[in-house]
Amino acid sequence: MASTANPSGRRRVGGAMDGEKLVFGSSEGVETIGSFEEMGISENVLRGIYSYGYEKPSAIQQRAVMPILQGRDVIAQAQSGTGKTSTIALSVCQVVDTRCREVQALILSPTRELASQTRKTIQAIGLHANVQAHACIGGKSLGEDMRKLEHGVHVVSGTPGRVFDMIKRRSLRTRAIKLLILDESDEMLGRGFKDQIYDVYRYLPPDLQVCLVSATLPRELLEMTTKFMTDPVKILVKRDELTLDQIKQYFVNVEKEDWKFETLCDLFDTLTITQAVIFCNTKQKVDSLSDKLRRENFSLSSMHGDMPQRERDQIMNQFRSGESRVLVTTDVWARGIDVQQVSLVINYDLPNTRELYIHRIGRSGRFGRKGVAINFVTNEDLKILRDIEQYYSTQIDEMPANLADLI
Ligand code: ADP
Ligand code: MG
Repeated sequence: MASTANPSGRRRVGGAMDGEKLVFGSSEGVETIGSFEEMGISENVLRGIYSYGYEKPSAIQQRAVMPILQGRDVIAQAQSGTGKTSTIALSVCQVVDTRCREVQALILSPTRELASQTRKTIQAIGLHANVQAHACIGGKSLGEDMRKLEHGVHVVSGTPGRVFDMIKRRSLRTRAIKLLILDESDEMLGRGFKDQIYDVYRYLPPDLQVCLVSATLPRELLEMTTKFMTDPVKILVKRDELTLDQIKQYFVNVEKEDWKFETLCDLFDTLTITQAVIFCNTKQKVDSLSDKLRRENFSLSSMHGDMPQRERDQIMNQFRSGESRVLVTTDVWARGIDVQQVSLVINYDLPNTRELYIHRIGRSGRFGRKGVAINFVTNEDLKILRDIEQYYSTQIDEMPANLADLI
C-alpha cells in the first residue's frame, strides 16, 4: 500500500478489555481458546458454526478469532486448508450488528471464485444470525450488485476492481465499515493488486480494523504492514513448518517439455480415482493441453481467467459436485479454493514463485485430509525444484510406481 496510507488519528475499534492477556508480536504470546463457546460467540452464530459441521476450532481459529472479535488488527498465517478463510467467515458473522443494514465488514480476495466461496461460507454460518453477505465480483451484472447493496447487506466479499467500482458509484457505502480483511493478503498487497487495494482503502473510515490472512507471508509484506496496521497481533508460521506432512510431494523427471504430455496420459486414469487439479503456467497452455487431452478421449474440465464468468461458474459447479473429476487450470485456482475431494495436484509446469508452490499443492489435503502433489520437471527445472525443497525444508521424492495406492 502507498506510504501515504497513514494510520495516524486512528482510534482502536475495540479497546483492551479488563484482564485481557497481553499479546506480544509473535505467535508464542497469543492465547489459544479451545472451544467456540469460550470465544463469547452469540448463540445464533454458534448454531451456524455447528450446523455447518464445525465441532472444535482449528489451531488458527483458536488463536485468531478472539483478537479479531476484540477489534485488534491481526496478521494470521497458517498452513493451507487449516481454516483461515473460515476464521474470517465466522468472525465477521459475530462482528456485524445485524440490526444495522449497512456494510460493516469488507473482505477482499484475489479471485472471483474465492470471493464467492467465502460469501457462501458466511451466508451458511450466518444463517441463524441472519447475516446478509453479498459477493461483489467482476463478470457479474452491475445492476444486480447495485440492487443487492441498495437492499442492504452486512458483509461484502469481493474482488478489488468491482468493489471499488461500487464504492465510486456510491452503491457500496463505506461509512459503517469497521473491519477490512484481506484474504491471501500477500497476493493482495503484491504488485498486481496493491494500487487497487489502496484505492479502496482510501474510502474506508479512519478507525478501521485491518486483518491480513495467508498461508504465505513473505518478510517484505510484514515490513510494510506498519503503514496501515496498528500494533497487530501476529500469528506466524516458520517456513520450515509450512508444508503439511499429510500432503506427499513427488516429482517426475520428464527430461524435456515435449515428454510431459505422454507422462500425463500415462497417469490420467489414476487421476480419476479421485479428483485432480492440473496447473499450467499460462492460459494458452491450459487451452492447448486440454485440447490435446480431449483428442485422446480423456474427459476433463478446464478453466482460466479469460473465460466468460458464466462458463467459469459452470465449470466450478461441475467440479465441486464431482461431475467432472480432472481440472486443468492456471494460478487462478492456486489460492483459497476449497474442494475437499481434491486429493491430487499436478504441477504440469512448476510455479513461478515459491509461494505459489505452497498454495497450489494446498488445493489437496484440505483440513487434515491426505493429498499428493506431483511435479513434472524437465532437466532445467530440477534446480528450481531443489530450491523449493530446501526453502521449505521439505522432501520431494521421485514418484513411486504405486501412485494409485497413495491417493
Ligand atoms: P484455509 O483458508 O486455511 O485454506 P479454509 O478456511 O478454506 O482453510 O478451510 C478448509 C476446509 O476446512 C473447509 O472445507 C472448511 O469448511 C473446513 N473447516 C474449517 N474450519 C473447520 C473446523 N473448525 N472444523 C471442521 N472443518 C473446518
Ligand atoms: Mg483460505
